[in-house]
Amino acid sequence: MEQENPEEIMKFLREFISFENEGEMSFPEIRNVVDSIIPIFYKICPSIRYKLKEAEEMQNFKQTIHYVCDGCGIHNVAEISWEEDKDERYISVYETFLPLLWSLCYFVLYTYDNCYAIKTQSDDFDGKLNFDEPGAKLALKLWNFGRNLKEIVKKWPEDCAKPEDESAIVLQANALFCYGMCFILYHEVGHLLLWHLNSAPSIQQEKDADDFAIEKSLAYQFDIPQELETAKNGMVLALISLCLLDSLAGRDDVIHPNTEDRLLNALNKMQLADESITWMIAAYGILIWFNEFKFEEIFEKEYDTPKSYFDAVIKRFKQELDG
Ligand SMILES: [Zn+2]
Repeated sequence: MEQENPEEIMKFLREFISFENEGEMSFPEIRNVVDSIIPIFYKICPSIRYKLKEAEEMQNFKQTIHYVCDGCGIHNVAEISWEEDKDERYISVYETFLPLLWSLCYFVLYTYDNCYAIKTQSDDFDGKLNFDEPGAKLALKLWNFGRNLKEIVKKWPEDCAKPEDESAIVLQANALFCYGMCFILYHEVGHLLLWHLNSAPSIQQEKDADDFAIEKSLAYQFDIPQELETAKNGMVLALISLCLLDSLAGRDDVIHPNTEDRLLNALNKMQLADESITWMIAAYGILIWFNEFKFEEIFEKEYDTPKSYFDAVIKRFKQELDG
Protein backbone atom coordinates (compact mmCIF):
# COMPACT_ATOMS: atom_id res chain seq x y z
CA MET A 1 0.00 0.00 0.00
CA GLU A 2 1.36 3.39 -0.87
CA GLN A 3 2.27 5.80 1.94
CA GLU A 4 -0.08 8.73 2.18
CA ASN A 5 0.30 11.82 4.25
CA PRO A 6 -3.04 12.38 6.04
CA GLU A 7 -2.69 16.17 5.84
CA GLU A 8 -2.09 15.98 2.14
CA ILE A 9 -5.17 13.80 1.75
CA MET A 10 -7.32 16.26 3.70
CA LYS A 11 -6.05 19.11 1.56
CA PHE A 12 -6.92 17.07 -1.47
CA LEU A 13 -10.40 16.28 -0.12
CA ARG A 14 -11.09 19.96 0.42
CA GLU A 15 -9.91 20.90 -3.03
CA PHE A 16 -11.39 18.11 -5.04
CA ILE A 17 -14.43 15.88 -5.00
CA SER A 18 -17.25 17.08 -2.80
CA PHE A 19 -21.01 16.97 -2.98
CA GLU A 20 -22.71 20.09 -4.21
CA ASN A 21 -26.44 20.41 -3.71
CA GLU A 22 -28.50 21.01 -6.78
CA GLY A 23 -32.10 21.87 -5.87
CA GLU A 24 -33.92 21.88 -2.58
CA MET A 25 -33.35 18.90 -0.30
CA SER A 26 -36.27 16.61 0.45
CA PHE A 27 -34.29 14.54 2.95
CA PRO A 28 -32.00 16.65 5.16
CA GLU A 29 -31.92 13.57 7.47
CA ILE A 30 -29.62 11.77 5.02
CA ARG A 31 -27.39 14.72 4.11
CA ASN A 32 -25.12 14.45 7.17
CA VAL A 33 -24.13 10.87 6.38
CA VAL A 34 -23.55 11.76 2.71
CA ASP A 35 -20.54 13.83 3.80
CA SER A 36 -18.99 10.72 5.38
CA ILE A 37 -18.90 8.92 2.03
CA ILE A 38 -16.01 10.82 0.41
CA PRO A 39 -13.41 10.27 3.18
CA ILE A 40 -14.11 6.51 2.93
CA PHE A 41 -13.99 6.73 -0.87
CA TYR A 42 -10.44 8.12 -0.69
CA LYS A 43 -9.37 5.96 2.22
CA ILE A 44 -9.99 2.71 0.37
CA CYS A 45 -8.16 3.77 -2.77
CA PRO A 46 -6.02 6.92 -2.34
CA SER A 47 -4.43 6.49 -5.76
CA ILE A 48 -7.80 7.06 -7.43
CA ARG A 49 -7.04 10.77 -7.34
CA TYR A 50 -4.30 10.41 -9.94
CA LYS A 51 -6.76 8.57 -12.19
CA LEU A 52 -9.38 11.26 -11.64
CA LYS A 53 -6.79 13.90 -12.41
CA GLU A 54 -6.09 12.12 -15.68
CA ALA A 55 -9.81 12.00 -16.42
CA GLU A 56 -9.96 15.70 -15.67
CA GLU A 57 -7.37 16.35 -18.36
CA MET A 58 -8.42 13.77 -20.94
CA GLN A 59 -12.20 13.65 -20.59
CA ASN A 60 -12.91 17.09 -19.15
CA PHE A 61 -14.16 15.45 -15.96
CA LYS A 62 -15.19 17.90 -13.23
CA GLN A 63 -14.45 16.63 -9.74
CA THR A 64 -17.69 17.76 -8.20
CA ILE A 65 -20.51 15.42 -7.41
CA HIS A 66 -23.86 16.93 -8.29
CA TYR A 67 -26.20 15.96 -5.49
CA VAL A 68 -29.46 16.17 -7.41
CA CYS A 69 -32.44 17.03 -5.21
CA ASP A 70 -35.33 17.08 -7.65
CA GLY A 71 -38.08 16.02 -5.25
CA CYS A 72 -39.12 13.27 -7.69
CA GLY A 73 -39.64 9.57 -7.06
CA ILE A 74 -36.54 7.46 -7.68
CA HIS A 75 -35.84 7.54 -11.39
CA ASN A 76 -32.06 7.32 -11.27
CA VAL A 77 -29.36 6.36 -8.78
CA ALA A 78 -26.11 7.83 -10.06
CA GLU A 79 -24.56 8.45 -13.44
CA ILE A 80 -21.76 10.14 -15.31
CA SER A 81 -23.53 13.20 -16.68
CA TRP A 82 -22.33 14.96 -19.75
CA GLU A 83 -22.96 18.64 -20.34
CA GLU A 84 -23.00 18.95 -24.07
CA ASP A 85 -22.32 22.68 -24.55
CA LYS A 86 -19.27 22.68 -22.28
CA ASP A 87 -18.30 19.09 -23.12
CA GLU A 88 -17.92 18.47 -19.37
CA ARG A 89 -18.44 15.24 -17.47
CA TYR A 90 -19.27 14.87 -13.80
CA ILE A 91 -20.89 12.39 -11.40
CA SER A 92 -24.52 12.93 -10.46
CA VAL A 93 -26.06 11.26 -7.42
CA TYR A 94 -29.84 11.38 -7.04
CA GLU A 95 -31.04 12.24 -3.55
CA THR A 96 -34.25 10.17 -3.48
CA PHE A 97 -32.35 6.90 -3.89
CA LEU A 98 -30.34 7.45 -0.70
CA PRO A 99 -33.13 6.94 1.87
CA LEU A 100 -34.03 3.73 0.04
CA LEU A 101 -30.52 2.36 0.46
CA TRP A 102 -30.25 3.57 4.05
CA SER A 103 -33.61 2.11 5.05
CA LEU A 104 -32.64 -1.22 3.45
CA CYS A 105 -29.35 -1.25 5.43
CA TYR A 106 -31.18 -0.48 8.67
CA PHE A 107 -34.01 -2.94 8.01
CA VAL A 108 -31.58 -5.76 7.19
CA LEU A 109 -29.38 -5.03 10.20
CA TYR A 110 -32.29 -4.87 12.62
CA THR A 111 -34.38 -7.76 11.36
CA TYR A 112 -31.47 -10.05 10.43
CA ASP A 113 -30.42 -10.30 14.06
CA ASN A 114 -33.75 -9.89 15.80
CA CYS A 115 -36.21 -11.65 13.50
CA TYR A 116 -34.34 -13.79 11.02
CA ALA A 117 -31.20 -15.37 12.47
CA ILE A 118 -32.79 -16.15 15.86
CA LYS A 119 -36.14 -17.39 14.54
CA THR A 120 -34.83 -19.54 11.71
CA GLN A 121 -32.56 -21.38 14.11
CA SER A 122 -35.16 -22.13 16.75
CA ASP A 123 -36.83 -25.56 16.84
CA ASP A 124 -40.41 -24.26 16.70
CA PHE A 125 -39.77 -22.04 13.67
CA ASP A 126 -42.75 -22.43 11.29
CA GLY A 127 -41.10 -21.01 8.17
CA LYS A 128 -42.59 -17.53 8.53
CA LEU A 129 -40.90 -14.42 9.82
CA ASN A 130 -42.92 -11.94 11.74
CA PHE A 131 -42.11 -8.35 12.40
CA ASP A 132 -44.54 -7.81 15.30
CA GLU A 133 -41.92 -6.89 17.88
CA PRO A 134 -42.01 -3.04 18.31
CA GLY A 135 -38.47 -2.37 16.98
CA ALA A 136 -39.03 -4.68 14.02
CA LYS A 137 -42.35 -2.95 13.24
CA LEU A 138 -40.55 0.38 13.05
CA ALA A 139 -37.76 -1.12 10.93
CA LEU A 140 -40.41 -2.45 8.55
CA LYS A 141 -42.19 0.90 8.52
CA LEU A 142 -38.90 2.58 7.59
CA TRP A 143 -38.24 0.03 4.86
CA ASN A 144 -41.73 0.55 3.41
CA PHE A 145 -41.09 4.29 3.35
CA GLY A 146 -37.80 3.63 1.51
CA ARG A 147 -39.17 1.23 -1.08
CA ASN A 148 -42.20 3.42 -1.74
CA LEU A 149 -39.93 6.34 -2.72
CA LYS A 150 -39.97 4.84 -6.17
CA GLU A 151 -43.55 6.12 -6.42
CA ILE A 152 -44.24 8.67 -3.70
CA VAL A 153 -41.89 11.13 -2.03
CA LYS A 154 -42.95 11.45 1.59
CA LYS A 155 -41.17 12.89 4.60
CA TRP A 156 -38.91 10.64 6.65
CA PRO A 157 -41.22 8.90 9.19
CA GLU A 158 -40.70 10.71 12.48
CA ASP A 159 -40.76 7.73 14.83
CA CYS A 160 -38.25 5.72 12.77
CA ALA A 161 -34.45 5.57 13.03
CA LYS A 162 -32.43 8.24 11.18
CA PRO A 163 -28.76 8.49 10.21
CA GLU A 164 -28.16 11.22 12.79
CA ASP A 165 -29.22 8.99 15.72
CA GLU A 166 -26.41 7.68 17.86
CA SER A 167 -27.49 4.13 18.59
CA ALA A 168 -25.04 1.32 17.79
CA ILE A 169 -27.32 -0.06 15.09
CA VAL A 170 -27.62 3.34 13.36
CA LEU A 171 -23.83 3.70 13.36
CA GLN A 172 -23.62 0.27 11.73
CA ALA A 173 -26.30 1.19 9.20
CA ASN A 174 -24.36 4.39 8.39
CA ALA A 175 -21.20 2.36 7.80
CA LEU A 176 -22.99 -0.13 5.52
CA PHE A 177 -24.61 2.75 3.67
CA CYS A 178 -21.29 4.56 3.14
CA TYR A 179 -19.57 1.46 1.77
CA GLY A 180 -22.60 0.81 -0.43
CA MET A 181 -22.43 4.37 -1.77
CA CYS A 182 -18.65 4.11 -2.30
CA PHE A 183 -19.36 1.03 -4.38
CA ILE A 184 -21.87 3.03 -6.44
CA LEU A 185 -19.40 5.93 -6.86
CA TYR A 186 -16.55 3.61 -7.85
CA HIS A 187 -18.92 1.92 -10.27
CA GLU A 188 -19.52 5.31 -11.94
CA VAL A 189 -15.81 6.13 -11.89
CA GLY A 190 -15.31 2.70 -13.50
CA HIS A 191 -17.61 3.68 -16.38
CA LEU A 192 -15.60 6.89 -16.77
CA LEU A 193 -12.13 5.33 -16.64
CA LEU A 194 -13.14 2.39 -18.83
CA TRP A 195 -14.42 4.90 -21.39
CA HIS A 196 -17.99 3.64 -21.38
CA LEU A 197 -19.26 6.83 -22.91
CA ASN A 198 -22.48 5.50 -24.44
CA SER A 199 -25.57 6.70 -22.58
CA ALA A 200 -27.03 3.21 -21.96
CA PRO A 201 -24.28 0.84 -20.79
CA SER A 202 -24.54 -2.82 -21.83
CA ILE A 203 -24.86 -5.53 -19.19
CA GLN A 204 -21.19 -6.43 -19.81
CA GLN A 205 -20.19 -2.80 -19.18
CA GLU A 206 -22.25 -2.86 -15.97
CA LYS A 207 -20.41 -5.97 -14.80
CA ASP A 208 -17.05 -4.46 -15.76
CA ALA A 209 -17.86 -1.30 -13.78
CA ASP A 210 -18.96 -3.49 -10.83
CA ASP A 211 -15.69 -5.43 -11.04
CA PHE A 212 -13.74 -2.18 -11.07
CA ALA A 213 -15.63 -0.98 -7.97
CA ILE A 214 -15.09 -4.26 -6.09
CA GLU A 215 -11.38 -4.37 -6.94
CA LYS A 216 -10.87 -0.82 -5.69
CA SER A 217 -12.91 -1.39 -2.52
CA LEU A 218 -11.23 -4.66 -1.57
CA ALA A 219 -7.65 -3.62 -2.37
CA TYR A 220 -7.57 -1.66 0.89
CA GLN A 221 -5.89 -3.38 3.85
CA PHE A 222 -8.63 -3.11 6.43
CA ASP A 223 -7.29 -2.78 9.99
CA ILE A 224 -10.08 -4.81 11.51
CA PRO A 225 -11.77 -7.81 9.89
CA GLN A 226 -15.27 -6.52 10.73
CA GLU A 227 -14.67 -3.47 8.60
CA LEU A 228 -13.87 -5.62 5.58
CA GLU A 229 -17.08 -7.53 6.30
CA THR A 230 -19.01 -4.25 6.50
CA ALA A 231 -17.51 -3.17 3.17
CA LYS A 232 -18.59 -6.43 1.51
CA ASN A 233 -22.07 -6.37 3.06
CA GLY A 234 -22.50 -2.72 2.08
CA MET A 235 -21.65 -3.54 -1.54
CA VAL A 236 -24.07 -6.47 -1.53
CA LEU A 237 -26.88 -4.31 -0.13
CA ALA A 238 -26.21 -1.61 -2.73
CA LEU A 239 -26.59 -4.26 -5.45
CA ILE A 240 -29.72 -5.67 -3.79
CA SER A 241 -31.20 -2.16 -3.72
CA LEU A 242 -30.55 -1.88 -7.47
CA CYS A 243 -32.19 -5.28 -8.04
CA LEU A 244 -35.16 -4.14 -5.97
CA LEU A 245 -35.44 -0.94 -7.96
CA ASP A 246 -35.63 -2.98 -11.14
CA SER A 247 -38.46 -5.04 -9.77
CA LEU A 248 -40.24 -1.94 -8.47
CA ALA A 249 -39.83 -0.27 -11.85
CA GLY A 250 -43.09 -1.70 -13.05
CA ARG A 251 -44.77 -5.04 -12.71
CA ASP A 252 -44.83 -5.46 -16.49
CA ASP A 253 -41.11 -5.77 -16.91
CA VAL A 254 -40.20 -7.17 -13.52
CA ILE A 255 -37.92 -9.74 -15.09
CA HIS A 256 -35.28 -7.27 -16.08
CA PRO A 257 -32.59 -9.36 -17.72
CA ASN A 258 -29.64 -10.33 -15.60
CA THR A 259 -30.05 -8.17 -12.51
CA GLU A 260 -29.46 -11.22 -10.32
CA ASP A 261 -26.55 -12.20 -12.56
CA ARG A 262 -24.94 -8.87 -11.70
CA LEU A 263 -25.24 -9.76 -8.02
CA LEU A 264 -23.84 -13.26 -8.65
CA ASN A 265 -20.94 -11.78 -10.64
CA ALA A 266 -20.15 -9.43 -7.76
CA LEU A 267 -20.30 -12.16 -5.10
CA ASN A 268 -17.98 -14.23 -7.25
CA LYS A 269 -15.57 -11.35 -7.65
CA MET A 270 -15.42 -10.88 -3.85
CA GLN A 271 -13.99 -14.40 -3.44
CA LEU A 272 -15.92 -15.03 -0.25
CA ALA A 273 -15.16 -17.99 1.98
CA ASP A 274 -18.05 -20.50 2.15
CA GLU A 275 -18.56 -19.49 5.79
CA SER A 276 -18.76 -15.76 5.10
CA ILE A 277 -21.72 -13.96 6.67
CA THR A 278 -21.97 -11.98 3.42
CA TRP A 279 -23.64 -15.05 1.81
CA MET A 280 -26.31 -14.88 4.51
CA ILE A 281 -26.84 -11.14 4.02
CA ALA A 282 -27.09 -11.70 0.24
CA ALA A 283 -29.56 -14.56 0.78
CA TYR A 284 -31.64 -12.43 3.11
CA GLY A 285 -31.57 -9.59 0.57
CA ILE A 286 -32.80 -12.02 -2.09
CA LEU A 287 -35.63 -13.07 0.24
CA ILE A 288 -36.65 -9.43 0.66
CA TRP A 289 -36.55 -9.12 -3.11
CA PHE A 290 -38.54 -12.36 -3.30
CA ASN A 291 -41.24 -10.68 -1.27
CA GLU A 292 -41.59 -7.94 -3.89
CA PHE A 293 -42.66 -10.64 -6.35
CA LYS A 294 -45.14 -12.05 -3.80
CA PHE A 295 -43.46 -15.43 -3.97
CA GLU A 296 -44.02 -17.76 -1.10
CA GLU A 297 -41.13 -17.15 1.27
CA ILE A 298 -38.64 -19.85 2.03
CA PHE A 299 -36.46 -19.91 5.07
CA GLU A 300 -34.47 -23.08 5.04
CA LYS A 301 -33.31 -24.32 8.39
CA GLU A 302 -30.82 -26.94 7.43
CA TYR A 303 -27.75 -25.98 5.50
CA ASP A 304 -24.06 -26.86 5.56
CA THR A 305 -22.52 -23.45 5.01
CA PRO A 306 -23.78 -19.90 4.38
CA LYS A 307 -22.70 -20.39 0.75
CA SER A 308 -24.85 -23.52 0.34
CA TYR A 309 -27.76 -21.66 1.94
CA PHE A 310 -27.35 -18.81 -0.53
CA ASP A 311 -27.13 -21.28 -3.44
CA ALA A 312 -30.43 -22.88 -2.35
CA VAL A 313 -32.16 -19.49 -2.08
CA ILE A 314 -30.95 -18.19 -5.45
CA LYS A 315 -31.82 -21.49 -7.15
CA ARG A 316 -35.36 -21.30 -5.81
CA PHE A 317 -35.56 -17.65 -6.81
CA LYS A 318 -34.55 -18.38 -10.39
CA GLN A 319 -37.04 -21.25 -10.56
CA GLU A 320 -39.84 -18.94 -9.41
CA LEU A 321 -38.82 -16.32 -11.96
CA ASP A 322 -38.71 -18.87 -14.78
CA GLY A 323 -41.89 -20.64 -13.72
ZN1 LIG B 1 -23.55 1.45 -14.49
